[in-house]
Amino acid sequence: MPVGAFSFPSKPITPVKSNTSWVCQGHNPGNLLASPTNLILRVLPEIAVVPGVTNDLSIGFAVGSYATVSFRWAREAADLVGVMPSEILTIVPAHEIGHLLLGPSHSPRGIMHASWSREDFARAQLGAFLFTTQQAKQMRAEVMRRAEEQGVAHVATTAPTK
Ligand SMILES: [Zn+2]
Repeated sequence: MPVGAFSFPSKPITPVKSNTSWVCQGHNPGNLLASPTNLILRVLPEIAVVPGVTNDLSIGFAVGSYATVSFRWAREAADLVGVMPSEILTIVPAHEIGHLLLGPSHSPRGIMHASWSREDFARAQLGAFLFTTQQAKQMRAEVMRRAEEQGVAHVATTAPTK
């Protein structure tokens, strides 16, 4: 069951299914399996259109404990809005991980907005791609809930300091 998908407004591409993926496993190779407390970010060369999960405008999607981003589509979206692909590839994964912890809803502004424009990227330094205070609080609560449910011994409970 999909919990969310992100898309850009007009992306003229044809999706192709791929089985290649990268998984960042950090320094603990024992944590490769996804679980409610082990979210996995996959960056695939491309993602297929799956009815009810993605459409031909989707750059990423979130299902279960997996956040998935299409590298090719992120590059094309970057060209479309006039930014570096790295900007897309920092924002879309955070958006999709946000869906894993917040659910399928979008917000009228911020990183959980359903789609972004060139103007949003121009305002990136002004906080156009931040989680709201409420969303951050919800995500921390969800992480704590999952950790408790999974019997995880320790979870940092404070927001990072600036
Ligand atoms: Zn979304």
